[in-house]
Amino acid sequence: IEDEYVQPYKVYDSSMQTAYIDKAEIAGELAEGIAKGELQVYYQPVVDVKTGQIASAEALIRWHHSEKGFLSPGFFIPALEESGHISELDDYVIHQVSDFLMDRYHAGKNVVPVSVNLSWMDFYDEKIMEDILDECKNNDLEEKLIRLEVTETSYAAMGESRNSILESFRTEGVKIMMDDFGTGYSSFGMLQQYNFDIMKIDMSFIRQIETNPKTKSMLRFLIDMAHEMGIYIVAEGVETEVQADFLKKSHCDYIQGYYYYRPIPQEEFRKLLDEM
Ligand code: C2E
Ligand code: CA
Ligand code: CA
Ligand code: CA
Repeated sequence: IEDEYVQPYKVYDSSMQTAYIDKAEIAGELAEGIAKGELQVYYQPVVDVKTGQIASAEALIRWHHSEKGFLSPGFFIPALEESGHISELDDYVIHQVSDFLMDRYHAGKNVVPVSVNLSWMDFYDEKIMEDILDECKNNDLEEKLIRLEVTETSYAAMGESRNSILESFRTEGVKIMMDDFGTGYSSFGMLQQYNFDIMKIDMSFIRQIETNPKTKSMLRFLIDMAHEMGIYIVAEGVETEVQADFLKKSHCDYIQGYYYYRPIPQEEFRKLLDEM
């Protein structure tokens, strides 16, 4: 497996990138980049703590720009949001993931649910939300293979009026995941107000498992509380054995992080699924 972050970090140190690449210019090149096949969906497998098997995956976009080199999503996603182009990207990712999963599903091959990231802006584009719902409904499983990740801050940015859209997805059997839990201003308010199925604990907490005893107490409490509410937990950004062991002992359901798998290209993910 290629160590995708070793080389790119050197090449695209984010401060350098913002100095040389104009955000608006990049956003304007999205359609062309998609047409030229420069944007690829990578998949990061998520492991079931109990079995050690791949339980699901997260779709993460990568842009290998023909002139500007490897662009980090941390850079171009905000650029696409500022310019209003983000929904084109999210729509593209959903279709790529859906095609990949459905081809395998209909061929009787192994599949796992794959979650895609949505921007709060997508919820203001009715056509795109309808399209996404159609793609989600594409399989006859009761629990749909495509899941939606919405960050805690996106929930806050959308406000309550948009939440009915997420509820209509849930009615169709689409699992909703709250991403980056714990990074917003009222995480507990979110828990009270909104219904979701899976909670992703932000990696900033995982980082502190080894150093901060308070973080460990918080995580244990958070996991128990979520379970009581019928919510499953994914720990994000797990990089060490110590972190993984602590999470296992604390009854965390799923682990995502470099300790198990990095985001990998579709071809590699295909091989992993075939070997399952
Ligand atoms: P995110 O949704 O929180 O995704 C998790 C990020 O953590 C990914 O960064 C992933 O590669 C990285 N990661 C996973 N495991 C580890 C680990 O063990 N250690 C460390 N240090 N990092 C880990 P990535 O791929 O650079 O994506 C950054 C953000 O860009 C994502 O954060 C997400 O908010 C956004 N993004 C990515 N793809 C899409 C997309 O298709 N649509 C939208 N709207 N946003 C996207
Ligand atoms: Ca399709
Ligand atoms: Ca995510
Ligand atoms: Ca996250």
